[in-house]
Amino acid sequence: MSLRVAVQTLGCKVNQYESSYFLEVLTNQGYREVPFSTPAEVYLVHGCGVTSKASHEACRLLRRAARTNPSALVVAAGCNAVLEGRRIAREGLATHILGNDDKYDLLRRLDEPASRDHPVVSVGDPRSIGSFRAVPVRCPPGGRARALLKAQDGCDAFCSYCIVPYTRGKSRSLPLEDVFAQAAVFVEEGFREVVLTGVHLGQWGRDLSPPRRFSQLLRRMDETVRPKRVRLSSLEVLEIRGEVLGEIRARSWICPHFHVPLQSGHPEILRRMNRKYTPREYGEILRELRSLFPRASLGADVMVGFPGETPRAFEETYELVRKLPLTYLHVFPYSPRPGTPASKLPGRVVGGELRDRARALRELGAHKKLAFMEEALGTWVEVMAETEIASGWYGGTSENYLHVNFPSSAPIPPGTLVRVKLTNLTPRGLVGRADSGKGPAP
Ligand code: SF4
Repeated sequence: MSLRVAVQTLGCKVNQYESSYFLEVLTNQGYREVPFSTPAEVYLVHGCGVTSKASHEACRLLRRAARTNPSALVVAAGCNAVLEGRRIAREGLATHILGNDDKYDLLRRLDEPASRDHPVVSVGDPRSIGSFRAVPVRCPPGGRARALLKAQDGCDAFCSYCIVPYTRGKSRSLPLEDVFAQAAVFVEEGFREVVLTGVHLGQWGRDLSPPRRFSQLLRRMDETVRPKRVRLSSLEVLEIRGEVLGEIRARSWICPHFHVPLQSGHPEILRRMNRKYTPREYGEILRELRSLFPRASLGADVMVGFPGETPRAFEETYELVRKLPLTYLHVFPYSPRPGTPASKLPGRVVGGELRDRARALRELGAHKKLAFMEEALGTWVEVMAETEIASGWYGGTSENYLHVNFPSSAPIPPGTLVRVKLTNLTPRGLVGRADSGKGPAP
């Protein structure tokens, strides 16, 4: 009987991509993937450390794995293992604790004798991670319709609140040829959409020899085997202008969906965050994006309660967001991460005030999302089917990041691209009618 492995991934798209690699390595060795809630011989918790909540969740999952099968091997891997490795070992939560470079030796490590009392601990210094670990994968986990392609790892920006440069090390890029090779594998596997992702994607290429620019990656992708559509996971605002913007405009296969972190709309807070733009610059670039891509989805991360964020500073953030052509928000209450410069700053916002600010922005984000969906009614979009949500009903995502449900009498496998006319907005979201073959091109 084959050994069973259960994987739970927390955090960013980069983590998800890397989990695909671990699953592929393990299944190639005869392991069988099972749900995390069921008995398995190996559990892998690929954790995140961006917030204290994420760290807490990773530890909870480690405990749960040990309860489900007390004799299983339990692996804590990734950023949370780097940050909380000592505590995980002390509390006997895992048999293996593997940092962000060390986790690629997973198979070999599993063969070493280990117990929760005497775990294998391998957490190297992230600052010394030298090269990008090229990990070509064939199939994302969980039968996903779209594939994630990790082109970049690490970050050199050192935003004052962010732990990532300390857990993943400096920025490293996957060489051009390897990006193309991975894209070709996904195309061969039948994926129509690939999400180009990285910890700080806009820094792609700077560490290569000779150095490359992100715009070159987009240009050269045109000449290679590439999927029908490519989504860019996230770009910093100063990195989505000039040449990069020119390349995006020239490539119709790049989805009109741009996630551009804002974090704060107050210049002094941005400065304390060590972010390199002003609210004015952010606003100008966002408006330019809107005028160039009238139907694009434009999203932002916004952090509330950063140390020193006065009610006035929060109001300025709120007002900026309200006026900008954003279509959705990810709102994060500030969570101090030990070891970051911001964790030592005075003036934290806590308790009810923090919750109120987060709620106000989330409500604003919900309004903007609703308005974007209303505006889209009557238009044609290209939906990538993801799941059958009920008998004869399918759900998927459009090129401009609208979640759409539509009926079809014929079965629609996940990953199929379907032209859909958006006809209704219901409490469960947008509903559309699939093109019978005669509708106008979206
Ligand atoms: S750009 Fe800033 S927030 Fe993003 S990973 Fe780098 S340090 Fe963290």
